[in-house]
Amino acid sequence: MTTIPAKNLVDGEVSCSNCRACCCRLEVMIISDTGVPERHIAVDKWGGETMLRLDDGWCSALDRDTFMCTIYENRPWICREFEMGSYECLEERARD
Ligand code: SF4
Ligand code: SF4
Repeated sequence: MTTIPAKNLVDGEVSCSNCRACCCRLEVMIISDTGVPERHIAVDKWGGETMLRLDDGWCSALDRDTFMCTIYENRPWICREFEMGSYECLEERARD
């Protein structure tokens, strides 16, 4: 069981709308072509692609004012699979 700090809950609810996009600070590997714009892609020396993260830690495709994804229709597969309320989601929220 995971204990969620009270500061991360609004009306006891886990929701992306009351979260500072905590999961958008994780490393996101790009493993299939969903049309992510090149300016948001970092390539390592082995040719592996991840979402570019800026100095503040967040993915470069995140709107810093709204905490919304600016490339939602083209976001990587991993972002599509990341489930709100999952163990990983609660872990990231607890870290914020
Ligand atoms: S999936 Fe979880 S960690 Fe990601 S924005 Fe939504 S509530 Fe926050
Ligand atoms: S592509 Fe969008 S959903 Fe995925 S980490 Fe970046 S801002 Fe978040």
